[in-house]
Amino acid sequence: MLQRIRVVLVNTSHPGNIGGAARAMKNMGLSRLVLVDPQDFPSAEAVARASGASDILDAAQVVATLEEALAGCSMVFGTSARERRIPWPLLDPRESASASIAQLQAGGEVALVFGREYAGLTNEELQRCHFHVHIPSDPEFSSLNLATAVQVLTYEVRMAWLAAEGLPTKLAKVETTAMLNAQPVTMDELEHFYGQLEATLIEIGFLDPLKPRHLMPRLRRLYGRCGISKLEMNILRGILTETQKTARGEPHKRREP
Ligand code: SAH
Repeated sequence: MLQRIRVVLVNTSHPGNIGGAARAMKNMGLSRLVLVDPQDFPSAEAVARASGASDILDAAQVVATLEEALAGCSMVFGTSARERRIPWPLLDPRESASASIAQLQAGGEVALVFGREYAGLTNEELQRCHFHVHIPSDPEFSSLNLATAVQVLTYEVRMAWLAAEGLPTKLAKVETTAMLNAQPVTMDELEHFYGQLEATLIEIGFLDPLKPRHLMPRLRRLYGRCGISKLEMNILRGILTETQKTARGEPHKRREP
């Protein structure tokens, strides 16, 4: 689906920015780059800045006019760092991303258009776009680097796409830990723990089995109050195991916390 979004760079002067834009696109799963009358392309600097995304540069389409770049597009977003005199439907990057995904879902083709480093897009070029997109930067210093602006818009496109596809936005590893952390311990795991806790407290001389007082019921009440997760239980069991080794004079195995 994302291959139906094209990034259009108009009359770019620095090839490094073309490379940076290609990298930003590839990071976010976009592949189609169209260059309108670039001042210096192909170029070694673009390849260097693309750092591994040079396949996007190789496949980039170079055209002479914006009109050619937009052929076949059903929705065009023009980005601008400044307010323009003629009022135009204005979106922020997040809104433009959800409109883009809706357009793709309807079978359309989308273009995200970016302007020149020094002068942006002309009014005429902006008037070819259905919407204007402004990244809400500080008005005192509103202009982002071209490749950075591409990154912001393509990131929002990716977030909207992941949501539309029902795909996770977090790495699987983080999720596994989070799940383990959220899973409560079972009664039998808790009983094992109390058994090891009691044995340890006896071994280190804290609990006298002949005069236990009410230590174990009090500790059960304490641990029972805090809703221990499986992950936390593993930590507590680990602490007890190492404590027992110390009490027995056994060597410790270094472990990750
Ligand atoms: N001096 C130019 C700035 C161009 S920055 C001007 O005043 O228009 C190069 C390109 O990066 C812009 O044409 C636009 O495509 C994008 N860009 C930079 N900052 C942006 C912002 N705050 N919102 C949207 N696009 C931005």
